[in-house]
Amino acid sequence: MTRSPLAARSAVAFLLVVLAVAGAPAAAGAAGKKARRPEQARPPNILLITVDTLRADHVSAYRSGPSTTPFIDSLAKQGILFRRAYSTSSWTTPALVSLLTASYPGRHGMGGPGQGADGRWAVIPSDLATLPEALRQRGYRTYGLTANFGLPADRGFARGFDKYECLGAVDVEQVRARLDAWLPEIEAHEPWFTWLHLFDPHAPYQAREPWISSLWSQPREGLKHLDGMNVGDYQQAAASLPRQSMDYVRALYDSEIRAVDASLGDLFDHFPGAKDALVVVTADHGEEFLEHGGTGHGRTLFDESTHVPLIVRLPDGRFGGTSVDAAASLVDVMPTVLDLVGAPLPADCAGRSLIGPGGPRKQARKTVVAELERQGLTRAITDGRYKLVTDPALPDAPALYDLAADPGETTDIAARDPERLAFYEQLLAAFERRMLAGRLAPGETALTREQAEALRALGYVH
Ligand SMILES: [Zn+2]
Repeated sequence: MTRSPLAARSAVAFLLVVLAVAGAPAAAGAAGKKARRPEQARPPNILLITVDTLRADHVSAYRSGPSTTPFIDSLAKQGILFRRAYSTSSWTTPALVSLLTASYPGRHGMGGPGQGADGRWAVIPSDLATLPEALRQRGYRTYGLTANFGLPADRGFARGFDKYECLGAVDVEQVRARLDAWLPEIEAHEPWFTWLHLFDPHAPYQAREPWISSLWSQPREGLKHLDGMNVGDYQQAAASLPRQSMDYVRALYDSEIRAVDASLGDLFDHFPGAKDALVVVTADHGEEFLEHGGTGHGRTLFDESTHVPLIVRLPDGRFGGTSVDAAASLVDVMPTVLDLVGAPLPADCAGRSLIGPGGPRKQARKTVVAELERQGLTRAITDGRYKLVTDPALPDAPALYDLAADPGETTDIAARDPERLAFYEQLLAAFERRMLAGRLAPGETALTREQAEALRALGYVH
């Protein structure tokens, strides 16, 4: 275990207090500030909100134009917005385990699409410390409430939580109802850590009123069969959908996002402890709408699948309204949170703390890597300027994209710029060498009959 910089600073602050008591002149502090014992500061309550399938560019804080996610935008104004935050994958389980353990999918091995099809799925390796475990060691009471059938307790997602429940594929109002029942218990013991994972923007996309009416003003006749269409059917139909139909699908998706945003606003009105909590809002991955010929997620590592929102609002609103262009990854969430509460980081932490006492760190990391286990391991690495993708399904893998000239990642420049290709291949090879040394073997558990049925109902298994 290593001590975090913040913990080390706390130790220095404590030493200064001791010296002051002993009458050492240096301890008075040149700035004349009153030193406080670090143990006197109450650790902040922490609210972590992850929204399944939420693309960064469908949150209005991430683009110009009218505000379509007013509550999340207001959190960004009070907090720090990481403009270039990336998931470690484009699939729920590997991405969220990266967030909870600060390790990459290639290390934690939690798999990708297809998991569960044979009646078994992976369990978080016991070697990895989880964020709730680390916070509980720090004295936190820990609560997890998740909406996505892939996050059940028996896959290890309950580890470190005093109370955990996976509600399956339910909407935000059902999560809220359960949270309301938990609130008296949560607020009775501080500090608390509460993780909410919301499912709404994930397909099947439902037309959420009243938002759909403002998003789609044309007649809906002829399109309504797309409302709530099973994932498998939708993915088969999408390739031949006319453009207007895909526009309508995007409107459905946006109506789900607005429902989440509105409900979160209401949640904060009814959850007094959330008002001065350390709040983190992010997503597990994005979503494709035919940008690269497909739909859904877990298919590619292009930005529409991996670029996620990341907003951190500190308890006292410090650095509110800051927008950070430096790269960030979901593996950085755990070290950032632990650093902010003065807790030690895990010894094998792959992430970086993104926020120091002076504010967001400008260069916490130079590159971000995403991985997808799908008929072998596909990887992508980017420094924000260029992006290398190793996907064997691409015509001439590995492919290199110039993100400045081609943000849609449509033109592979690898053949015309072999030197640059070699540079990014070396960067990725260095990452792979570190990963190979650390690959863990996840556990395995059988799906229950209900879990298998949920996979079928969603259209992931036929
Ligand atoms: Zn997901």
